[in-house]
Amino acid sequence: MRCSEKNDDMVCGFCKLVPDSHSHLFFECDFPRKVSSRLKYLVRLDNAPDSWQNLIDFMASRPVRKSIWNILQRLLIGACVYYIWQERNLRIFQGRARSFDEVCCQIRDVVRGRAMRLRLKASIQVFNAANLWDFHVKHGCLEKDIMNIREYIGCLGNFVESWTIGALFTLGLGLIKVVMQ
Ligand SMILES: [Zn+2]
Repeated sequence: MRCSEKNDDMVCGFCKLVPDSHSHLFFECDFPRKVSSRLKYLVRLDNAPDSWQNLIDFMASRPVRKSIWNILQRLLIGACVYYIWQERNLRIFQGRARSFDEVCCQIRDVVRGRAMRLRLKASIQVFNAANLWDFHVKHGCLEKDIMNIREYIGCLGNFVESWTIGALFTLGLGLIKVVMQ
C-alpha cells in the first residue's frame, strides 16, 4: 500500500499527539531524535545535530569518504531509518511497542553485524572502530562494496514504505554512497 504523506486518521505511534506523517516522524518527534542522539557518538557524529532534518542535511553536505567512520555513519543512519519505521508500524498496526533501549540496541547490533562482515585494511582508525564496536578486523582489502542507503534498507526488508525512502532521497540521502575498496 502506498501511503500519503499525511494520515489524518492516525496519530503518531510514539508521542500520540499529532497526526502520523513522515515529516513529523523523522523531523519533529522526540523518539527518533533521541535515538540519533543516543547512538551518534558511536560513529563519531558527536557534533552532528540531533534533529533528523538537520542530521540529514549535515550528512548530505559532507563528502563521501571510504573511512571506517564514514561507512559506520551511513550504516547507522540507514539502520535508524529502518528500525524507527518498523517500530512506528509495530505501534500503530499491532499495538505493540519496544522500549527506547530495545530499539537502540537493535540498531546497534545490526550495524555491528554489518561491520563485522566488512573486509577492512588494518589501520589505527579501523582498530579504534573495532574496539568501540567490538568486532574483529579481518586483514584484507580490495573487496569492492558499493552500497547506498536504498540498497541497504531494501536488503533489510520491505517494511519501509516507498514514500519514506522517496522523502529521504529528496533530502539528499540518495546521493550518499559508500564505496570501499
Ligand atoms: Zn510523534
